[in-house]
Amino acid sequence: MEVKIAHLYPSLMNIYADRGNIITLSQRCSWRGIGVRVDDFGPGETPDWQAYDFFYLGGGQDREQLLVARDLAAKGAGLIEAVLGGAALLSICGGYQLLGEYYRTAAGDTMEGVGLFKAHTVAGSRRCIGNVVIESRLGGSKLKLAGFENHSGKTYLEAGQEPLGRVVSGYGNNAEDGTEGIIYRGAIGTYMHGPLLPKNPGLTDFLLRVALSRRHGEISLAALDDSLEDAARAVAVKAAR
Ligand code: GLN
Repeated sequence: MEVKIAHLYPSLMNIYADRGNIITLSQRCSWRGIGVRVDDFGPGETPDWQAYDFFYLGGGQDREQLLVARDLAAKGAGLIEAVLGGAALLSICGGYQLLGEYYRTAAGDTMEGVGLFKAHTVAGSRRCIGNVVIESRLGGSKLKLAGFENHSGKTYLEAGQEPLGRVVSGYGNNAEDGTEGIIYRGAIGTYMHGPLLPKNPGLTDFLLRVALSRRHGEISLAALDDSLEDAARAVAVKAAR
């Protein structure tokens, strides 16, 4: 069994050690004897959308987002088809914004998004910075997730869209409505950097299950000893209070 991960724009969209999320995905697979292949795709390079089980798009500032936006918009249809076909996807902050309908920056630029997520983002007048804790119902169970956010963009979900969770502490999507992130099928968008996955194994395993089930049907993952990860999350939760 192997998970095939496509890492989109790794050199442009990689702040707050987003790469740590890829390392965590790979490590939790290898602890379970599951193979992993990670391929990087930059501007002008298009993955074979059906060949990958997992797509990753990290965070980036407005400057990098501008460089990526047009290239990514041209790839939108393939990416959406892959998600509709059962692929998992994780997008963080600037990457999350670019997968919505559009992002309007403080400088007045409007970046067209991919439209995978029924949401749009507009720059706010203050930055939302700090530790963030949310309560999620991912996969049907209650899960506390912790991360670090730093964004001026305020994201608004369209009616009926499911947030990744409700903010316990921090700002979340827009500092107004108590939502954080979005989940659509196996695709997640979130403002939580961190890196996020090392201290949120429940989220990591949710994404791995989605990715693996694309080719292998319903999968139950072997339990791992998460005591270190849980301790790291507890520290982050405490810091957010
Ligand atoms: N440029 C975006 C914002 O500030 C995203 C920043 C990020 O990815 N940290 O809203």
